[in-house]
Amino acid sequence: MANIFGNTDNDNSAVLWDYLFNVDEGRKNLGGEMPVIVYRMLEYSMRDVLTSMYGKEKMIEIIRSAGEKTGREFYSRCLDGSLPLNDFLAQVQQKLIDLKIGILRFEKFDEETGHAVLTVSEDLDCSGFPSIGETVCNYDEGFLAGILKAYTKKEYIVVEIDCWGTGERVCRFDAKVVLDK
Ligand SMILES: [Zn+2]
Repeated sequence: MANIFGNTDNDNSAVLWDYLFNVDEGRKNLGGEMPVIVYRMLEYSMRDVLTSMYGKEKMIEIIRSAGEKTGREFYSRCLDGSLPLNDFLAQVQQKLIDLKIGILRFEKFDEETGHAVLTVSEDLDCSGFPSIGETVCNYDEGFLAGILKAYTKKEYIVVEIDCWGTGERVCRFDAKVVLDK
């Protein structure tokens, strides 16, 4: 069976990513919005199935990679990479509010090192969850890394350090540039 989303080398993949954004034509009556629970059911069923098939570590790697793929596609379609840093960060913040993904704040962005600390409140993936002793927003880790990599052209690793899953009321992400060896 053909992998319709394939990898970025696959022509169909690029075409289908364009059509993901063509919601107005496809949903003339229902429109572009749907309840958060639908997104969560998709995400957490994928996490469960991937964990049972490949184990937890691999599941996290896959979810994070999917987030990064989305971050890059989102960057190329929805963000203006020619903006200077502060304007770019403001644009990312506004887009995440417009799309109701979460309320993003940059607690720190060191222009010298690229090191950033970001928070997302009312996060789409985990807000309202009980404390389960671990962070769960691996998709967001990848998504934010994908955007930062695309904009800065640097290699980033983003790790969630606070989450509703660890008993916090905001998700906090540490974003570091991986230095060339
Ligand atoms: Zn979280």
